[in-house]
Amino acid sequence: FFSDVELVPGDPILGLTEAYNADPRPTKVNLGVGIYYDEQGRIPLLKAVQQVEQALAASARPRGYLPIDGLPAYTQATRELLFGKDSPLLAAGRVATTQTVGGSGALRVGAELLRKVLPHATVALSNPSWENHRAVFTAAGFQVLDYAYFDPSTHGVDFAGMLADLRKLQPGTVVLLHACCHNPTGADLTLEQWRHVAQLLKERQLFPFIDMAYQGFDKGIAEDAQAIGVMVEAGIDTFVVASSYSKSFSLYGERVGALSVVAATADQARAVQSQIKRIIRTIYSSPSAHGAALVSGVLTSPELRALWEDELRQMRERIHALRGGLVAKLAELGRPEFGFISRQAGMFSYSGLSREQVDRLREEYGIYAVGTGRICVAALNQGNLEYVARAIAAVSG
Ligand code: PMP
Repeated sequence: FFSDVELVPGDPILGLTEAYNADPRPTKVNLGVGIYYDEQGRIPLLKAVQQVEQALAASARPRGYLPIDGLPAYTQATRELLFGKDSPLLAAGRVATTQTVGGSGALRVGAELLRKVLPHATVALSNPSWENHRAVFTAAGFQVLDYAYFDPSTHGVDFAGMLADLRKLQPGTVVLLHACCHNPTGADLTLEQWRHVAQLLKERQLFPFIDMAYQGFDKGIAEDAQAIGVMVEAGIDTFVVASSYSKSFSLYGERVGALSVVAATADQARAVQSQIKRIIRTIYSSPSAHGAALVSGVLTSPELRALWEDELRQMRERIHALRGGLVAKLAELGRPEFGFISRQAGMFSYSGLSREQVDRLREEYGIYAVGTGRICVAALNQGNLEYVARAIAAVSG
């Protein structure tokens, strides 16, 4: 039966890590990943998470199934974190939040839902976008378009191009927007620009799908969620948010995400939630329990929540310091043109390095970056920063 099955080429970013692992050079650095590493080069296990984990282990709980749409304490805490505890939308019961298998699961379940309710099933992605966006929406039956986003000459957002492309979309098109810390470029919209975009989406009757995978990794928990507030302010009464705790809780493998759907009324929100449950029931029936227990345990305890917020602040401040450190070192080496790295946000930077320069970094220095020039700033530390800066200065000279 399998004689005609073709081999699918491996994921290029995961392939990079395999090549990195096989590289014998002790000075090697993997900047190709999408993970936050601490100063010791490890994936942190947050203290707040550890405390909940210890309490859970001590209580030896039975392992029943969660409801199809997840742990209620988790979905409630998630809704409050995204929309703000006092949001009138929550009071009105207009937000249906479902626990999902990571942010990826939220994207796919959200795409499946929208394919049922939107007539064209067309989505527009930023150019470029996280590479899995296209695959997820295509797999759910969407036609995928893109809109201008990144301007290589400024290393920031091509805002005029973005607006022009959004204006061309048919009403009812889904527009995928990165809430903050744009992956792969690190280029984000300002608050003013968000307001502009929201106005345009409203006027053109486009459907916002906000992907929030890095809440708290740039400016702060509420600040990084401003895209949501702006949609509400603009009077957009239906939109979707896919969120993830992979980075903000450093719980990558626990697959903790959520899909939140804003509906015009509480009745519509309930109907949407029932459709989402049907979708989930036929894919994986119900989500896993452990990660959700960890996150809700932290978010519902005032002390642990304060501890987590502090740990999250330390992660984002460290990323800012690494960006500043890399820029300063490059300037010292006669490369002030890399100053834009400090203006970008989150874990990633489109460094502006060409494919050939990325190849040289890998071959000559054992520094692994994505062929597009994307580097993960959160994989730098005081031990490798100077080495990386010297290598970038050498290959870009
Ligand atoms: N969206 C974006 C923009 C991402 O960068 C990622 C993960 N790298 C995800 C969604 C998926 O998150 P998760 O790992 O929780 O599935």
